[in-house]
Amino acid sequence: MPGEAPLVFDLGTGARQLGRALLTRPEREVQVFISHFHIDHLFGFPFFSPVFAPSFKLRISSPSFSGDATRDRLGRYLNGILHPLRMPDLPAPIEYGSVRPARPVEAGSATVTAVGLNHPGGSCGYVVSGGGKKVAYLTDTSPLSRPGEGLSGGLAPTAREAEAIRLLQGADLVAMDTMFSEVEYLEKMSWGHGYPEYAALLCRAAEVKTLALFHHSPDSHDDALDGLAERWAGGFDGMRVIVAKEGADVDLEG
Ligand SMILES: [Zn+2]
Ligand SMILES: [Zn+2]
Repeated sequence: MPGEAPLVFDLGTGARQLGRALLTRPEREVQVFISHFHIDHLFGFPFFSPVFAPSFKLRISSPSFSGDATRDRLGRYLNGILHPLRMPDLPAPIEYGSVRPARPVEAGSATVTAVGLNHPGGSCGYVVSGGGKKVAYLTDTSPLSRPGEGLSGGLAPTAREAEAIRLLQGADLVAMDTMFSEVEYLEKMSWGHGYPEYAALLCRAAEVKTLALFHHSPDSHDDALDGLAERWAGGFDGMRVIVAKEGADVDLEG
């Protein structure tokens, strides 16, 4: 929301560019929500400019038991070994919080609801509602039903899918994990990632307006992603489908 602390989801490699951009904005606050502590979601933490700006107030929340647990888990990365700095060396005042599924938290005028996902060690998605708009970030996750069951099997949603559909209902934008093709997913089901056809089925069931295919495989070169964009250019049963890319802006009025 204009004038409010921007909301940031995870601190992957994109956090470097984003952090620099945030320094040029008038707001001196930022709220970060971490999905889980796998390193691809944290790489950018000690390269995120606001943590070096004493004038910046940060709040970082994660699906942990407490704010202290969020701080301690980030501290395993910023421990003086994997990066020269330790947590107490960061000049910005940082408050640490915890989030739990089904317990929405207020973030400025928006409400952020955590969603438990299907990933080794757990991962937490987020649904943000505010100003008459709804946006969701769902990574890292396998489908919420096993092959042959629920939406994966072309059947009625499982209880878990029904809950996700309720939370996503009518969302303007959902960015969802589609790292694999369906064939790759079936070969690597224990990895905790999804594929486009499943994300499309789940989001269409929730009457989502735009689905952004997200968390691309490191093996997906630009040509592969261009091919993906082409395959989904016509959308899915009236739903717009786009391929997420670094630095992209999505206009929710469109
Ligand atoms: Zn992960
Ligand atoms: Zn990941």
